[in-house]
Amino acid sequence: MKIVIVGCGAGGGTAAQFARKTDRKAKIVIYDKEGYGQYSKCALPLVIAGKDWKEIIEFPPSWFEKNGIEYRHEEVYKIDLEGRVIEGGKEEDFDKVVVATGAQPSCPFEAKGALFLRCLDDAIEIRQRIKKGGQAIIVGAGLIGLEVAEALAKCKMKVKVLEYMPYILPNMLDEDVANYLLKKLPIDVELGCKVEKIEDGKVIANEEYKADLAIVAVGNKAITPFGKAIEVDEKCMFARDAFAVGDCTIIRDFFGRKIQVGLGSIAVRQGMVAGINSAGGHEIILPSLLPKTTKIFGIEVASVGLLSNEIDGISSKYIGKDLPHYMNGNDILVKVIADKKGIIVGCQAIGNGASKIIDRIALAIYNRMHVSILAKMENSYAPAVAPVFDAVNIACQMLNKKIKKGRN
Ligand SMILES: Cc1cc2nc3c(=O)[nH]c(=O)nc-3n(C[C@H](O)[C@H](O)[C@H](O)COP(=O)(O)OP(=O)(O)OC[C@H]3O[C@@H](n4cnc5c(N)ncnc54)[C@H](O)[C@@H]3O)c2cc1C
Repeated sequence: MKIVIVGCGAGGGTAAQFARKTDRKAKIVIYDKEGYGQYSKCALPLVIAGKDWKEIIEFPPSWFEKNGIEYRHEEVYKIDLEGRVIEGGKEEDFDKVVVATGAQPSCPFEAKGALFLRCLDDAIEIRQRIKKGGQAIIVGAGLIGLEVAEALAKCKMKVKVLEYMPYILPNMLDEDVANYLLKKLPIDVELGCKVEKIEDGKVIANEEYKADLAIVAVGNKAITPFGKAIEVDEKCMFARDAFAVGDCTIIRDFFGRKIQVGLGSIAVRQGMVAGINSAGGHEIILPSLLPKTTKIFGIEVASVGLLSNEIDGISSKYIGKDLPHYMNGNDILVKVIADKKGIIVGCQAIGNGASKIIDRIALAIYNRMHVSILAKMENSYAPAVAPVFDAVNIACQMLNKKIKKGRN
């Protein structure tokens, strides 16, 4: 049995590991056009901020070799599924193939001289171009844009973020939650700003901005040797003996929507499933609920499931403190979204523990729980840790009342 894996990111590297765990004897070959081995792209903003890039490498090429996985620092140009052969530096046959080629930044306008952030070389280049006291313009106030903004601000650049939408993090938060967060961020953001063009040092939008460093973070598109994203099933399969994982794939999420993958959390789980299945095992992936989190300027932000504009539902938002009133707690926001019958479908949280809150709600969504259950659900309590009724309980109590009264 010979398994060939194309791409050594979160998805491909994980697939190689699980293929090896499943079949100790199979010949496994992994192709990596970058040459660093497996590392988390999610840690790239840390490299911009000054972390030594070597520290973020999780599994260097030598690790794969030590574990009996042939590591080739080569790009694959073609995959012939019928002939079971790939073309890299030379032709290589396979019994099973896992495509894990990821994505690359997309840009709808001309961006001469601008930088993008997708791989380690990009982060190293941005780091080298940092100019203390200089002006950085980031186009896009999504997760990556804001994380880069923070990294550059830490490096003492003046940072301005330009966002086309009327609010930040539009793929992760509702407008009211995003605006609550923006007020807390020490950052200059221009909303509703359409960038037309970038020309060495000039960002042209509704007005012209001078930039010592311009970075575009407006989205990604899949890259594969087939020239388009690959639709996979729950086994991460797309053809006989052919699997695909990570950002180069299209999957169906928990709500039945076809989505292009764009999260490391999904890529790793797909890698696990494809690795096992390519080596003769039987595994399936759970449908994604799209939990997302980040920490920007020290503030934890998280969301899961549907946004308000994705369902004709009902929501309630609690803004308060995360500890009893006498404990001097920190600000917390929790917004819970349910369908008209009260089944929980989404949640957004800002403040300490936000990611744990949405992980808790993810379970509720997965189990199609009614909001009245979470409204009453007992949680652990101690004044120094959590109040008797925490922000999730209270948001759900408010939402439950609305649902009983049939109000939006
Ligand atoms: C700055 C940044 C921050 C992020 N933060 C988060 C986060 O906090 N949480 C989260 O869940 N996700 C985050 N993501 C997204 C996450 O990194 C991706 O979803 C994840 O890396 C996808 O894994 P992948 O294996 O599909 O692709 P990648 O990790 O991109 O790996 C694909 C690899 O394949 C190689 N390759 C491509 N084509 C070929 C070829 N033809 N031949 C050989 N090799 C090839 C590429 O060089 C690349 O190394 C972030 C992404 C970025 C860029």
